Amino acid sequence: MNQDIRCTQCGRKLAAGRYLELHIKCPRCRAMNHFKAERPGAPQPGATDGRQSDHSLARRQTTLG
Ligand SMILES: [Zn+2]
Repeated sequence: MNQDIRCTQCGRKLAAGRYLELHIKCPRCRAMNHFKAERPGAPQPGATDGRQSDHSLARRQTTLG
């Protein structure tokens, strides 16, 4: 999944792709842009339901005989 990296000053597209941390100087307005990924390896929204049934693990010892 590519991600557009645009200048925060003039909005010029600087690059596209994935990044963790990036420093790009805009050739147009010469503004130094610093991009940082929100959270590397963040859990995708919707993967797991917010509500999870708390199923207590009740294990009873069954003794035969
Ligand atoms: Zn710019």
